[in-house]
Amino acid sequence: MAVATAGSLLAVAGHPAAGSLAGRPVAAVGFDLDYTLWDQDDFARSFFAEVAGEFGRRMGLGDRQVAEACRDALDRLTLAHPRLFDQVLHQLGVWDPRLVAEWVERYRRHRPPARLYPGAAALLARLKAAGLRLFLVTDGQGGSQRHKVAALGLGPWFEQLVFTGDLPAHQHKPSPYPFRLACRCLRLPPELCLYVGDNPSCDFAGPRSLGMGTIGVATGPYARLQVPPEQAPQARVASLEELARLLVLPGPGGPG
Ligand SMILES: [Mg+2]
Repeated sequence: MAVATAGSLLAVAGHPAAGSLAGRPVAAVGFDLDYTLWDQDDFARSFFAEVAGEFGRRMGLGDRQVAEACRDALDRLTLAHPRLFDQVLHQLGVWDPRLVAEWVERYRRHRPPARLYPGAAALLARLKAAGLRLFLVTDGQGGSQRHKVAALGLGPWFEQLVFTGDLPAHQHKPSPYPFRLACRCLRLPPELCLYVGDNPSCDFAGPRSLGMGTIGVATGPYARLQVPPEQAPQARVASLEELARLLVLPGPGGPG
């Protein structure tokens, strides 16, 4: 959605999908992580696959029974549900707070499969090659999010990474704080930044309140979430590939 202009600044193109962002100057693009750059459900699926066999044997349950309970809970509740593990263990008839704590601990240490969404790496390469500065703002437990970033090979792309799990809860999204922090570290005004995310309930109100431009990507389970206008992104795309197709930028490069 950005098109190269004179000097080091870019500007959002006048494409219909750009919405109210058309013509806006851009120096940096920030990204959410889960369901924006990769399928967060990959994490849950690989975690549940890891625990299903071992846990099934320990508890005298079949692998398939455990796997089906995990899949059913994930489909019904999504990974964002705060009691997902409780629900699985209740469904299996073996709920115990010590088991929940064990699963939470293992979940935080779990190494996910390293698969970005199609087009994600190419998009980051094009943005970087065009001279845009890149940053990440992600909610979630800090250690777990760092494992994901490392496993996905994302670290080298980003000049600033803000893990809100390291901050007090009131500074997590949708607070504008982590976005202000990223801008301060980049020494850029929010008005020269875009933020790309998937979840209207937490990704856009914070950066918008600072004057940052926001782009929603419909890649996750929140794509059809209805939210008040102040929580909505200013522009929407169906996928990162669509976002990349809208770019008029130099060709791919590598992380600098
Ligand atoms: Mg997300």
